Amino acid sequence: MLSWNSNLWPPFTSIASASPPQKVIAGNGALIELENGQKLIDAISSWWVTLHGHANPFIADAIASQAKQLEQVIFADFVHPQAETLAKRLSELTTLERLFFSDNGSTAVEVAIKIACQWWMNIEEPRHQIIAFEGAYHGDTFGAMAVGERNLFNAPFEDMLFPVSRVPWPATWWNNEQIDKQESNCLEKLDILLETPTAAVIVEPIVQGAGGMAMVRKEFLRAVEQRVHQAGALLIADEVLTGFGRCGSLFAFQKASIKPDLIALSKGLTGGFLPMGVTLATEKIFQAFVSEDPRLTFWHGHSFTANPLGCAAANASLDLLLKDPKCYEEFEARHLPYLQELSKNPKVSKIRLNGTIAAFDLKVKEPSGYLNTAGKIFKSHVLEQGVFIRPLGNVVYLLPPLCITDQQLKKCYSAINIGLNKF
Ligand SMILES: *Cc1c(COP(=O)(O)O)cnc(C)c1O
Repeated sequence: MLSWNSNLWPPFTSIASASPPQKVIAGNGALIELENGQKLIDAISSWWVTLHGHANPFIADAIASQAKQLEQVIFADFVHPQAETLAKRLSELTTLERLFFSDNGSTAVEVAIKIACQWWMNIEEPRHQIIAFEGAYHGDTFGAMAVGERNLFNAPFEDMLFPVSRVPWPATWWNNEQIDKQESNCLEKLDILLETPTAAVIVEPIVQGAGGMAMVRKEFLRAVEQRVHQAGALLIADEVLTGFGRCGSLFAFQKASIKPDLIALSKGLTGGFLPMGVTLATEKIFQAFVSEDPRLTFWHGHSFTANPLGCAAANASLDLLLKDPKCYEEFEARHLPYLQELSKNPKVSKIRLNGTIAAFDLKVKEPSGYLNTAGKIFKSHVLEQGVFIRPLGNVVYLLPPLCITDQQLKKCYSAINIGLNKF
């Protein structure tokens, strides 16, 4: 019998209604191994972080040797080679010159928002409006909650969240005939909002993750970028999920051919080994913080800024990605035939695919959304087949580590099909 640990408080879990977690003792590639010896396919990369697979030996070795060399040093007074290397590489890859370290996706977003707002102060043109999209998720700290969709999760803090203007998100899927109309409605709304001086617009490029793997067309993002820059506002790309190949290109903004002014990265950054976030900014933004006047300084920092172990993991993960870009570039083609098959199933709707991320909605009678219980039941059927997924309400998705074998991927889809039969 599973039971709850009496000393732990688990994340995002309704203790009274959830079943207690299973104990994991090891991970290997796409598999996680339970205490009872059972092996499960981790079809969602352990909350989207595990990039090359569990316990990847190359990344593990890089962390181990870094730990014996230098485990941590205060980053306000010192730099170290791993951080310099990582900053140079990410700057070259994104073309945003300056990199600020923090600890996770939420802090990477917080930093981006704070930099954007202070930048307008520093150039003596204060602007206050921040625009975000409906359905967005940017993390769980206060600033990140404020820009995210207001919902059950952050309702207790509503009064404490700064105001944010919202634009609808024109999510699309295979054979969506309404998409042109949806997009023009969103852009009209954006145009109206941008008549007010705007500090920044924050977007999850290509895919809103926690909002239900809601995907938009590249054309829409290009239209957004053009309007945002026309209005002189800063564009923040929250690539905490989409970065590092998840959408089939190294970064999603590249796939959409847009140029953000600030980028937040985390999750896959260290290959999923260690918590770390980074915020990239253009040199133009950075220069507005360089002054003898202390009010212009960006007074923000975390104890573990640029942790050398995290940097070593991130550099090793980048080595793997850059050595074999096909592993993410060609992933979409691996999902495709299975989704084409699924599209014939009457219980499935709104199929969508981008790079490594494949998703569909379970057709349900009750309202869709995170609290819809269909996904929970579906999840248990799939788990019986040895495949771990974590639907978002009635949205089922696969977001596997890049190392997943063809046979393992096949097993994921056959588990989904068995789940659909029982559903
Ligand atoms: C997960 C996520 C975050 C928050 O990252 P944490 O590391 O969980 O704080 C922010 N933005 C997006 C798009 C995410 O998917």
